[in-house]
Amino acid sequence: GVAPSESIEGEENLRSPICCIMGHVDSGKTKLLDCIRGTNVQEGEAGGITQQIGATYFPAENIRERTRELKADARLKVPGLLVIDTPGHESFTNLRSRGSSLCDLAILVVDIKAGLQPQTIESLNLLRMRNTEFIIALNKVDRLYGWQTCKNAPIVKSLKQQPKDVISEFNVELKKVKNQFQEQGLNTELYYKNKEMGETFSIVPTSAVSGEGVPDLLLLLVQWAQKTMVEKLTYVDEVQCTVLEVKVIEGHGTTIDVVLVNGELHEGDKIVVCGLQGPIVTTIRALLTPHPMKELRVKGTYLHYKEIKAAQGIKITAQGLEHAIAGTALHVVGPDDDLEAIKESVMEDMESVMSRIEKSGEGVYVQASTLGSLEALLEFLKSPAVKIPVSGIGIGPVHKKDIMKAGVMLERKKEYATILAFDVKVTTEARELAEDMGVKIFCADIIYHLFDLFKGYIENIKEEKKKESAEEAVFPCVLKILPNCVFNKKDPIVLGVDVVEGILKIGTPICVPGREFIDIGRIASIENNHKPVDYAKKGHKVAIKIVGSNAEEQKMFGRHFDMEDELVSHISRRSIDILKDDYRDELDFDEWKLVVKLKNIFKIQ
Ligand code: GDP
Repeated sequence: GVAPSESIEGEENLRSPICCIMGHVDSGKTKLLDCIRGTNVQEGEAGGITQQIGATYFPAENIRERTRELKADARLKVPGLLVIDTPGHESFTNLRSRGSSLCDLAILVVDIKAGLQPQTIESLNLLRMRNTEFIIALNKVDRLYGWQTCKNAPIVKSLKQQPKDVISEFNVELKKVKNQFQEQGLNTELYYKNKEMGETFSIVPTSAVSGEGVPDLLLLLVQWAQKTMVEKLTYVDEVQCTVLEVKVIEGHGTTIDVVLVNGELHEGDKIVVCGLQGPIVTTIRALLTPHPMKELRVKGTYLHYKEIKAAQGIKITAQGLEHAIAGTALHVVGPDDDLEAIKESVMEDMESVMSRIEKSGEGVYVQASTLGSLEALLEFLKSPAVKIPVSGIGIGPVHKKDIMKAGVMLERKKEYATILAFDVKVTTEARELAEDMGVKIFCADIIYHLFDLFKGYIENIKEEKKKESAEEAVFPCVLKILPNCVFNKKDPIVLGVDVVEGILKIGTPICVPGREFIDIGRIASIENNHKPVDYAKKGHKVAIKIVGSNAEEQKMFGRHFDMEDELVSHISRRSIDILKDDYRDELDFDEWKLVVKLKNIFKIQ
């Protein structure tokens, strides 16, 4: 056989590329991951696969074994492939360092029948944002009507065995998906027809159920990585390590799951990680990986290591990790290192996030699973089309303390007493407290769904407020009484008027300005061309009915006012404030000018 991976590894000293799986919910990410891990393989056909913390490791031999049928005289230069176990955004956004991804590669899963879906596009945007290369798995090919399954076969072989009509359906769906990618500005092609990898993105048709296309996917990942990323994959001693998850484990306290991308970690190493309340300096107590024997994998059984080399998924136990933030870099302090400088650089990850918090302190509270997803969410909320101010942030599940923090807004701006929870759980106590306090919580695992929810909520509040203040909101208008149109002089007054300026609305209190202001009553109804209407605008000629309040003496045309008198809305300080708060968008520029004019007439400060 071929030389074992060690000697090949020695040749160029590459580390294993790190790969994660993304795509829309139900596209088959988990299933594909299971399939790549392959239970049949684990049962001993081609071993060597090891379960790590948060990741699965595939040694080169395993990949070679599984791709033998592809007859690629695959000289695998990388020792293996590290696939991140948690599919989806979370692990991807976590594996980052200073804005660029630590994932060398990604598999973007697309359901062949569903095509591109919202989370596919969101994933796509994340991948582009972080400049991460990816391969498209066009999954669920076995769902094409009449598909002949050919277990674990390379896809070309499998396609050759399909009846004609299956092939034509396959081609139709493929074309659709390619067009959809085109709409996103991406050229794509079946991988075995792709002559310009890098420019054109490769599509590998797969079935996570039958394993068809999976060998192709694995080989393509590895070959492409070692061909185009030699520099990035060259092993270096300097520790490059990212916190993937922060977890409380019985008997170990708060632990961090990390991916060690480069370098070595040792028991007893002094480390610095980014914490919500500042840098955390601590010492590695234990380096752990899961027990390799399935039977032994009971809760809490781990293998301990004195030292561990990249690339690896590891659990680290140490003191003081309670406030560690997933998605940030872990630094090791060497004997000659400047601890203060390291502490500073560790917190840099946090600064980009902190800088997005509203200086005024007025805004919603935002909670995300990781620093990376928080960043993505904040970036979105800040974009011109969205513009939702943020006053506070949290990472991880929503707890009571987060509700308390968000509750501060209840006094300042009630609608901002809201938590936008992106891809995190809300504890029962937190939910109860929120209910009691009147803090709103919106949860979603697609960023723009949060926006839709919040927008809907704000609009609702606006409508409610409008209804509440409708009585007191006075729209500005100036009316001129039309000649020969006094239909009734009192009880009620009925007149034909010309709306000279502004908006005339039912309910508006009408007043005759002069040395003393004579309130003649509120508009009870408006008729335009004998049809009742709710309002009339500048230039309309309408009939109005004015009803006085019962408490006062009823005013009368001819006695309290006359043909020459202008009628205006009786505005007040309060009515102006209500217009400004709740009806700002309903008045145009000229109408606001009229408000100012009336304000002067009524001498309102
Ligand atoms: P995820 O949400 O992307 O992780 O999707 P899952 O892996 O949970 O898959 C969603 C559903 O699709 C499950 O019922 C899977 O069994 C099914 N599924 C996934 N991949 C395939 C496939 O290739 N073929 C078929 N027929 N079903 C699949």
